[in-house]
Amino acid sequence: PVRVRFCPSPTGNPHVGLVRTALFNWAFARHHKGTLVFRIEDTDAARDSEESYQQLLDSMRWLGFDWDEGPEVGGPHAPYRQSQRMDLYKDVAEKLLAAGHAYRCYCTTEELDARRDAARKAGKPSGYDGKCRTVTPEQKAAYEAEGRTSIVRFRMPDEPVTFTDLVRGELTFTPENVPDYGIVRANGAPLYTLVNPVDDALMEITHVLRGEDLLSSTPRQVALYRALADIGVGNGTIPAFGHLPYVMGEGNKKLSKRDPQASLNLYRERGFLPAGLLNYLSLLGWSLAEDRDIFSMDEMVAAFDIADVNANPARFDLKKCEAINATHLRQLEVKDFIAACEPWLNAPHAPWAPEAFDRAAFEAIAPYAQTRVTVLSDITDNVDFLFLDTPVADEASWSKAMKEGSDALLRTARGKLADADWSSPEALKEAVLAAGEEHGLKLGKAQAPVRVAVTGRTVGLPLFESLEILGRDRTLSRIDAALA
Ligand code: GLU
Repeated sequence: PVRVRFCPSPTGNPHVGLVRTALFNWAFARHHKGTLVFRIEDTDAARDSEESYQQLLDSMRWLGFDWDEGPEVGGPHAPYRQSQRMDLYKDVAEKLLAAGHAYRCYCTTEELDARRDAARKAGKPSGYDGKCRTVTPEQKAAYEAEGRTSIVRFRMPDEPVTFTDLVRGELTFTPENVPDYGIVRANGAPLYTLVNPVDDALMEITHVLRGEDLLSSTPRQVALYRALADIGVGNGTIPAFGHLPYVMGEGNKKLSKRDPQASLNLYRERGFLPAGLLNYLSLLGWSLAEDRDIFSMDEMVAAFDIADVNANPARFDLKKCEAINATHLRQLEVKDFIAACEPWLNAPHAPWAPEAFDRAAFEAIAPYAQTRVTVLSDITDNVDFLFLDTPVADEASWSKAMKEGSDALLRTARGKLADADWSSPEALKEAVLAAGEEHGLKLGKAQAPVRVAVTGRTVGLPLFESLEILGRDRTLSRIDAALA
């Protein structure tokens, strides 16, 4: 059975790279009717925070992910927070030492630095040189008598490590490139290099899908999994690895966590639909079919195959992300669109007074707004003219729409609108059209001053539908105000 994990460290705000990793693991698990384990890698007390942990859970829920084991749901391998599993790691470290897969290293930082520099100058590999591999019990006693502390170092095999990456094919790493590495600090704190594979082994993870930035640690981890299998930690499964391609941001540089575009919160605050955002993020390294970039998560799950993931870097394109989100918004049933707008219709997003909000008017205008918004937060600019007392055009919009003769046109239009039949937008259009004719203006030119006088904007929803929903009295009094 497929068992995959999503195992972020709770540091800072969630970013899109993390979401892409979660998405691919989730889709893979669901496609194979497997198990998704959500594990929290919070062994670094200096960097991890409770706030960030809560945000992670909240973000995962907002995105609509579910997991089979982990925080809030429990499971047979609980606890799922590494900070609560420390005794376990210490125990495994002891076992690795006892079996000879790891050893105590007494080298000081100064000694390590000096030898590394010397190796570099001599053009030799500059990783750990294995000095403490052969420490005798006498030397060990002498080091300890000197007051030296020791870290635990994993003994890499002397042969190359080969594994088949699910995305990149067979990869081989030679021993010179993968030196022995620390797994427990001198103060006894286990490191990521140990706890991540130990938990994968104990939680019987079968597939590890993660970012390419972690590829260099994979040969070390593969060797460690083999050692864990050897000492009977876990059930002996060595997971298959698939490294997801880098995501490139502006200027073809790797999208960094600090990049504003990378912050998941930004997408939430702007009102992306989870379905739209996830649809876009799925395209960062994968595609459903060449000619289809709009699909649902159900379709992704049905089609997802890790073998289809592309090893080439993917470019993050905010415009495309927005366009995909806009398409998802248009595909909603009107009632679902209305429900999705709800949080944006109140303070602090909405600029109007709560008592000025008219639900019937909003529901009448919503289908027109639905075809125009890119993100849900756009809704307020589109409908505010209905709920503000006097929408005031800024200077630039005003002068853009009000040309010479606009006053005269507005006066005529006011008269015709006052006499019009207000039961359909067509009649209102006829009125403005007729006013335009009197002044030698086509409809587009004639409606511009009406729009800006009534809605305060130069562009917006279909004008005559907007006027009808706003109503005769308010339309006329806004034109009057513009003429005053
Ligand atoms: N906690 C690690 C990270 O967030 C997980 C790495 C992995 O997926 O193996 O980078």
